[in-house]
Amino acid sequence: MEINQLQKQQTQRSITFKAYGYYLQMAIYTELIKQTFGVECQPFIFAVSKQTPCDHDAFSFNSEQDQEYLKEALEDVKEHQDHIADLIAGRAEPERCGHCEYCRATKQITAFTSAADIEVE
Ligand SMILES: [Zn+2]
Repeated sequence: MEINQLQKQQTQRSITFKAYGYYLQMAIYTELIKQTFGVECQPFIFAVSKQTPCDHDAFSFNSEQDQEYLKEALEDVKEHQDHIADLIAGRAEPERCGHCEYCRATKQITAFTSAADIEVE
């Protein structure tokens, strides 16, 4: 595989990982382990798809870009933790994103959406 193809594939994988919140998840796990055990650890993900036959791969978070995304994710947590605490305590209402489990479970159809506006992921 050419270097450009490999870099493109890695960039695409980073975008996918970021989009799915894996950086946020790994940043939180790493920080909780650090606070609980005083250990700086490196996150890894061993992933298996739900396809038949399943795909599988191993992902590290060691590149400079990965480290930057992990840092950004932890900053996001710090920025929003007061609001999350308010949500847990019932002092605030959640803001709907339209995509998460909560939004799907509580969705109410109030109008038709034009078929041309259907979002494809
Ligand atoms: Zn949502």
